[in-house]
Amino acid sequence: MSQSQSGGTGMGTVVECAKCGSTEFDLREFESMMVLCDQLALFGLRCSRCRSHVFAVCVIPHELQPQIEAAAAKLGAGMGRQAPADI
Ligand SMILES: [Zn+2]
Repeated sequence: MSQSQSGGTGMGTVVECAKCGSTEFDLREFESMMVLCDQLALFGLRCSRCRSHVFAVCVIPHELQPQIEAAAAKLGAGMGRQAPADI
């Protein structure tokens, strides 16, 4: 068993597949995501090599933020924010 992470936290988390050791993950291609707080989310990813599911807590990439906010608004998740009254 190889450890996927050596206790590192914070920005630039490297996602590694526990099965094949691949680190070729693109957070933008997540299969599922659960937002934990403003900047962190639990990403569910599919390994491109062995096709196993990999879950990792990562900092949400900037380019995903508008997408997440839009999705949250759509679902009424709110996340403690008020939707704009009128658009
Ligand atoms: Zn893999």
